[in-house]
Amino acid sequence: MPELPEVETTIRQLKTEVLNRTFVDFWTDTPKIIKKPKNINDFKKQIIGKKILNLRRKGKNIIFDLSESKSLLIHQKLTGHLLFGEWKLLNNKWVPAKKNALAEKINSYIHLLFVFDNNKMMALSDLRKFAKVELWDKDKLENSDVFKKIGIDPMDKNFTFKGLKEILKNKKGPIKKILMNQEIIAGIGNIYSDEILWDSKIHPLTKISSLEDKELKKIYLSIKKILKKAIKLKGESFSDYRLPSGERGNFDKERKVYRRENQQCFRCKNSIKRVKINNRSAYFCPFCQKNDL
Ligand SMILES: [Zn+2]
Repeated sequence: MPELPEVETTIRQLKTEVLNRTFVDFWTDTPKIIKKPKNINDFKKQIIGKKILNLRRKGKNIIFDLSESKSLLIHQKLTGHLLFGEWKLLNNKWVPAKKNALAEKINSYIHLLFVFDNNKMMALSDLRKFAKVELWDKDKLENSDVFKKIGIDPMDKNFTFKGLKEILKNKKGPIKKILMNQEIIAGIGNIYSDEILWDSKIHPLTKISSLEDKELKKIYLSIKKILKKAIKLKGESFSDYRLPSGERGNFDKERKVYRRENQQCFRCKNSIKRVKINNRSAYFCPFCQKNDL
């Protein structure tokens, strides 16, 4: 699933293309992706003619602020990724108009497509079709339960060590699970929680209550360091995520533990191991990330 660095990358690249553009048409073959309004014709009627005034991230959500005080929310979920370019409809299937990265198979599962006033398009490629699209009144979205539940953003200037300590006070459970809880910290998932814990030399199953201040501080610094680095490298692409251009992110080469089971740890040369936490895998080095569990 795209995490903070991937969502941020998508927004930064889309911003250069869609800002101040107006939606002139919309197509889908999977109406269930549109959750709000539920009627697909209502959605189409409401989106056409709206201009994109701003693009921003809230956790893993992409928010397009539109004219007439509307906001379009897109959550790419498991396998969805937004693409930007031009396509042609051939035998009821959208194919890229030009031979470029958009032609890669992973970018071909197009189930939503928006057309802009310059004939350019934004499409959602989504193999599993779990993505979510909602059209809101802007103020209602800001005050919605969905938004209120989203935890602090690690890229926010208010994300300080003191603030993090306060947020984690009285929390229970293994640190990996806490890092991935969107209601505590927004945007970190399976990949970056593994990378952050390897970087800070903390075992993923360590109980949060047993962490000392100096260990929390290491985790805090690693969160900022790893996410910043991943944004700089435009995210990861070992599974479905691609940039709006269809190209791959470059974090894959930099990862230290995620999906590296039985490969050598870059620090101590021992084997990377995998452990299950709530049906999710955690990858870690049992030597570097030794904690008294
Ligand atoms: Zn190691």
